[in-house]
Amino acid sequence: ERKAALAASTGPGRTSDGHTVPLLANVGGPADVPAAVEAGAEGVGLFRTEFLFLDDSKKAPSEDAQVEAYRKVLEAFPEGRVVVRVLDAGADKPLEFLTPADEPNPALGVRGLRSLLDHPEVLGTQLRALARAVEGLPVHLEVMAPMVADRQDAKAFADACREAGLKAKFGAMVEIPSAALRAHSILQEVEFLSLGTNDLAQYTFAADRQVGAVARLQDPWQPALLDLIVMSAEAAKATGKSCGVCGEAASDPVLACVLTGLGVTSLSMGAASIPYVRAKLAKVTLAQCVRAAAAARATDSAADARAAANQVLSGE
Ligand code: PEP
Ligand code: MG
Repeated sequence: ERKAALAASTGPGRTSDGHTVPLLANVGGPADVPAAVEAGAEGVGLFRTEFLFLDDSKKAPSEDAQVEAYRKVLEAFPEGRVVVRVLDAGADKPLEFLTPADEPNPALGVRGLRSLLDHPEVLGTQLRALARAVEGLPVHLEVMAPMVADRQDAKAFADACREAGLKAKFGAMVEIPSAALRAHSILQEVEFLSLGTNDLAQYTFAADRQVGAVARLQDPWQPALLDLIVMSAEAAKATGKSCGVCGEAASDPVLACVLTGLGVTSLSMGAASIPYVRAKLAKVTLAQCVRAAAAARATDSAADARAAANQVLSGE
């Protein structure tokens, strides 16, 4: 079955009736690029740059070292899109030089964009390195900030990008419920949204993603999570902007169809999942995806949502 899925699966992501949904890869650095290219990724939807910083938690890598790593990833997708996420330190990814040592609740503390706004020199270096790395390349570079809570955060990030002379689209991750609830307001400052469903589930359900005992609440099929996804996708659509998903939710082929039906415009996942998502999308119509999404949202549990969507999507 695995072989059949891979064989039937080439080309861009699209439903059987031709609605396109770019399938992008999540990468941690140049080492992940070959697998992404082999899986036929149309670009990178999430470059988690913190992996570059984890080698030495005492100081940030030099601007030159960053230019080299970013350029290797950007060069691999000449005509594609590469979405780079600026450093997301703190909580599950602490860095000695950035993360306060004694936070009682690290997931609710200084992490993501919050650490970068406290250390503008770290953000500035990273953005300047990206500006240099993309010079002369035809790739469509997009840069986004993790843990954007409100419009003020989004503006601070966009200002920093402009100050660094970065020629790219600037975006905000939606991984805090406040950002989904006020997506229309955040979109006044940025050009695209990307849903980080792992953290969005954590913060919506008050369920630590590192605590197995509350894993039930981390299920991306939870209808409350689907509702927040709709709010974000609709706000983006109203302004003609894009809203992708780069959390684990995108890697489940059935949920990927539901996300498409909810109005999400691209899906980014680990390279290994791309052929399966592509194969499932190719078997269903956009109308089926929309019906599956409505059926899932009409339920009151993750299990019922999954079953309802499966029923619609396996029907034809
Ligand atoms: C997410 O939170 O869904 C996400 C994509 O970011 P990370 O898993 O790196 O926190
Ligand atoms: Mg996250």
